[in-house]
Amino acid sequence: MRRKIVAGNWKMNNSLNRGIELATEINKKVRKQEENDVLVILAPPYIHLSDLSRIVDKDAISIAAQNCASEPKGAYTGEISAKMIKSTGAEYIIIGHSERRQYFHETGEILKKKLVLTLENSLTPIFCIGEQLNEREAGNHFDIIKKQLEEALFDLPTNWMGKVILAYEPVWAIGTGVTASAAQAQEMHKYIRNTIAGKFGQEVADNISILYGGSCKPSNAKELFANDDVDGGLIGGAALNADDFFAIINSF
Ligand code: PEP
Repeated sequence: MRRKIVAGNWKMNNSLNRGIELATEINKKVRKQEENDVLVILAPPYIHLSDLSRIVDKDAISIAAQNCASEPKGAYTGEISAKMIKSTGAEYIIIGHSERRQYFHETGEILKKKLVLTLENSLTPIFCIGEQLNEREAGNHFDIIKKQLEEALFDLPTNWMGKVILAYEPVWAIGTGVTASAAQAQEMHKYIRNTIAGKFGQEVADNISILYGGSCKPSNAKELFANDDVDGGLIGGAALNADDFFAIINSF
């Protein structure tokens, strides 16, 4: 079902103690709201997952991993499987973040395997797509996004596709302080929804949540979230501060 969502990606930040402190602070603020139809997700580092899953109110906050292995189990030193993530109490996995694509060379083929493992373990993927600055400047951004959708998602059965959350994160906006304009975000989100409709049907497209990510902060969240096809945000830097993150949650 299409929902308003604000997800915080902590990346490789916060000791376990600081993570518990920050999640507790956010939990207190979110819990206090009487009516809250925003799904709030925290994506801390792996080592926080089980502690955070235990300390947050389940009806206020859900927990996500930032990644998972592309294999189900076995001799893959240092990797964490989707099944292991499930056992921590986490419910979501971010797949295909641009930092994973760029620094860890994750291709469409690898991401497809991760998506399948996530869904097989009854977890919800938050699948990230986004173009580089040179691709936008060359006018190729729609083609790049279409390719990223096609190569990782288009083989999924329709019922699985219905469970996926998408995050459009232009790479030039991530951690740079430069945000896509509300018009640029809406234009791309609409394109993404139409592309999903073309492959999986209008009902799936209408129900899919598409988040915007890239230097989203309290000062611009309202304008971004006001767009018809922007269903919320995937937040990096501003998710490390409870007040900022809470202000973004309240930006709908
Ligand atoms: C992200 O990394 O997903 C992100 C959106 O980061 P930031 O908000 O810091 O640009």
